[in-house]
Amino acid sequence: MHNSPVSRRRMLSLIAGSAIVMPAVLTAARAHAEQNKAIRDALKYQDSPMKGQQCSGCMQFVPGKTPKDRGGCKVIAGDTEISPQGWCTAWVAAPAK
Ligand code: SF4
Repeated sequence: MHNSPVSRRRMLSLIAGSAIVMPAVLTAARAHAEQNKAIRDALKYQDSPMKGQQCSGCMQFVPGKTPKDRGGCKVIAGDTEISPQGWCTAWVAAPAK
C-alpha cells in the first residue's frame, strides 16, 4: 500500500462506500429471510422430523456442504437454513438411491 495522502484518501473513500453499501445488502438479505419465513410458516416448517420424515429424505432438499450442515429447499427458494432434520407439509420421499 502507498503512504501518499491520495491513496489514504482513496482508501477512506472505499471504506466509507462499504459502510453505506453493507447495510443495504444486509437489509435486502433480512427482507428475503422474512419472505422465506412466510413460506416456512405456510408450509408449517419445523427444525425437527415428523413421524420419521425429515428434509434429508425429501426429494426437494438441497444438501449443505456436509450431511450435517443446513442446506436449501427447492420449494423455499433462496433459503439456505433448512435443517437436514427439518420437515414441512410439502415433504415428498426422495427416490431410493
Ligand atoms: Fe424439507 Fe419441506 Fe423442503 Fe422437503 S419440501 S426439503 S420437507 S422444507
